[in-house]
Amino acid sequence: MSDLHDVVIVGGGLVGASLAIALDRLGLDVGLVEATPAGELPAVFDQRNLSFAAATVNALTALGVMQRLEGAPGPIRRIHVSRAGDFGRVVMDAGDYGRDAFGQVVVARDFGRALEARLGELAHLTRYRPAKFVGLGECADGRREVLIADAAGERRLRARLVVGADGTRSAVRQALGIAASEHDYLQTLFVARVRTARAPDGTAWERFTDTGPTALLPRGDRHYGLVHGVARDEAEAVLALDDAAWLARLQDVLGWRAGRLLESGPRSAYPLIQVLAQQLVGERALLLGNAAQTIHPLGAQGFNLGLRDALTLAELIGDAEQDPGTDDLLQAYVQRRGPDREQTLAFSDGLARLTGNAAPLLRPLRSLGLVAAAQAAPLQSFLVGGAMGFRGQVPELCRSQAR
Ligand SMILES: Cc1cc2nc3c(=O)[nH]c(=O)nc-3n(C[C@H](O)[C@H](O)[C@H](O)COP(=O)(O)OP(=O)(O)OC[C@H]3O[C@@H](n4cnc5c(N)ncnc54)[C@H](O)[C@@H]3O)c2cc1C
Repeated sequence: MSDLHDVVIVGGGLVGASLAIALDRLGLDVGLVEATPAGELPAVFDQRNLSFAAATVNALTALGVMQRLEGAPGPIRRIHVSRAGDFGRVVMDAGDYGRDAFGQVVVARDFGRALEARLGELAHLTRYRPAKFVGLGECADGRREVLIADAAGERRLRARLVVGADGTRSAVRQALGIAASEHDYLQTLFVARVRTARAPDGTAWERFTDTGPTALLPRGDRHYGLVHGVARDEAEAVLALDDAAWLARLQDVLGWRAGRLLESGPRSAYPLIQVLAQQLVGERALLLGNAAQTIHPLGAQGFNLGLRDALTLAELIGDAEQDPGTDDLLQAYVQRRGPDREQTLAFSDGLARLTGNAAPLLRPLRSLGLVAAAQAAPLQSFLVGGAMGFRGQVPELCRSQAR
């Protein structure tokens, strides 16, 4: 049995699902392969707090996803950055850039529900779930074979373009023979929902210490989304802390800027690694999102970047009005994504290394860096432009509501 599609997307996570929605607008026949059964959300839609850049909010609104969120997202109107033991701080206000907010904070689980609701409305989508990608077959007659396994056994799909959006340990990447480089930051990031005596006022608080970053992101439900980075060898002890000791630890790191911490929800822990595919395309195949680049979450750029990948691909396919898997189209994609990818990777990796480095010699440098960032308008604009997702040639949908 063979199912023919214009595009087969492997992975219905944040990026794969978003791409399916973008391609449906173009009237393309898309197959979406996801290992998680119908009625369940993939595990990646967990309690992590996603900070959506303004460009992402625009695009997800144009795609009809933001409207499906059940609760209001939390606007980030101000970003306050400081470093323990150092002088200098940076405060960036969205109003200074003519904007209401830099972006919005959405819990991944809520986002998953909204995506799922939107996917259910698509006219041209075939979903294969639970189904696992097993391998790639030959290219013949302008289509590439995709092997998947489901409860009924193995089946073959055929598509003009196969998209690997199957995450950090991408099996599509492996099947294409594309190598990946890895860097382990030897850090673990804890995520939890916390409540403070003073309700969030739209400020995101970012605090750096020698052992890693800590941030409070203003959610839409009067709580903060906390991220707390610790050295890997400390992670087990931090996980074992009771709630009172955990809150005391956080208060110590954050100080009293955001008020007294009253309560914390359950903690989840993520080991931090960077995984970069050495190539983004193969024959009638392309890697997107975490399959292409898994980056340190500190800069909150992973999904924002992956969505720009997906929307650029959709835009090129829409403009070409032709076979979506040609070499020319794939090369145009690689060219167009290069600058944004490189700058975002450099930004996230640089931030992660700089803020997690305990070397005393780097301290004055970091402090000067903060002060410089506070005073240099062009540098701030660059940082803010990147944080909002408007760096370089961004997809049209990202601009749709931009002021
Ligand atoms: C703690 C934390 C906080 C973060 N915060 C932010 C943030 O604030 N802003 C931001 O932009 N990004 C953030 N990120 C990054 C963001 O989560 C990722 O960029 C995003 O999940 C990547 O989406 P993806 O679709 O590429 O991969 P994933 O979301 O990992 O999805 C991959 C999908 O593929 C499926 N799959 C895998 N293998 C197979 C197979 N063989 N067959 C079928 N299906 C398969 C999986 O089930 C899954 O559904 C954060 C990450 C972490 C860990």
